[in-house]
Amino acid sequence: MDANTGFKLSNSVNERVVHQYSNLVDLYIKREDQIHPILSGNKYRKLKYNMVTAKSLGYSTLLTFGGAFSNHIAATAKAGKAYGFKTIGVIRGEELLTKVQENETLNYAQSCGMRFKFVSRIAYRKKNDLNFLKSLKEEFGSFYRIPEGGTNANAIKGCEEILNKADEKFNYICCSVGTGGTLAGLINCSKPSQQVFGFSALKGDFLQEDISKFVSKTNWTLNSDYHFGGYAKVNEDLIKFINKFKNEQNIQLDPIYTGKMMYGIFDLIKQGFFKNGSKVLVIHTGGLQGIKGMNKLLIKKGLPIIE
Ligand SMILES: *Cc1c(COP(=O)(O)O)cnc(C)c1O
Repeated sequence: MDANTGFKLSNSVNERVVHQYSNLVDLYIKREDQIHPILSGNKYRKLKYNMVTAKSLGYSTLLTFGGAFSNHIAATAKAGKAYGFKTIGVIRGEELLTKVQENETLNYAQSCGMRFKFVSRIAYRKKNDLNFLKSLKEEFGSFYRIPEGGTNANAIKGCEEILNKADEKFNYICCSVGTGGTLAGLINCSKPSQQVFGFSALKGDFLQEDISKFVSKTNWTLNSDYHFGGYAKVNEDLIKFINKFKNEQNIQLDPIYTGKMMYGIFDLIKQGFFKNGSKVLVIHTGGLQGIKGMNKLLIKKGLPIIE
């Protein structure tokens, strides 16, 4: 149970990953995906202090932003329902207005009571403009705004709770990166002797700078070699890797974040990137709700699906 929110959380345990190169590197995965069925992984961590703050400021509505398959949208909808907030999702893509039923993420969010505002891709880019926010206020009344992907100072504070005392023995901490909020939290709570590695799930040079704003340590690196062409882009190689990993470890990875990161880690181990005998802790940040939606796309493209 989380003392701040009253949410019932399961323990996030470190599980050993046994792999072809286990003689070189000791690899563990922190099962943050298991802390809560929907509010899994970093999305709970990122929402936690935002909800606490919104409540203490007297807000009854949370408003946030996201795309059609957003884990953050699903998590905000669920968190709002469980914690007594109304929720509003500003969704990128006007065409989705008529597709809520067939979109797993939006359908789920709606079933939690989330109301949507669909906007064009162009309007979405201006989502933080004062005029747009003012028009949202006129339409929905007052709300506590959580940025796209959920990253702000409160989110980072929540992510600083991912590591615990026993994790100090690890030499490397690895995590997938979207906006970088989770990585920033991990950096802040890491020991200076630990190396924190972020694996970018998207193309873009802005991330390095974004993350720097939130951290004061320098014991971290952002790797951009395993984004597979960009956000939510996948190929057959990646899907096969995710399926093989599931078969061998009995752990499900998602195709947008954790699958790409783990693919990268295996590749780096093979290249001898980590010092022999290193202890590596990988954070499973969840994201499994997106698999159904991704499989629909994979079928359309004639690619193998996530089993
Ligand atoms: C949102 C998300 C991330 C990225 O987190 P950021 O804090 O935005 O970098 C990583 N993994 C999963 C599964 C996510 O849903």
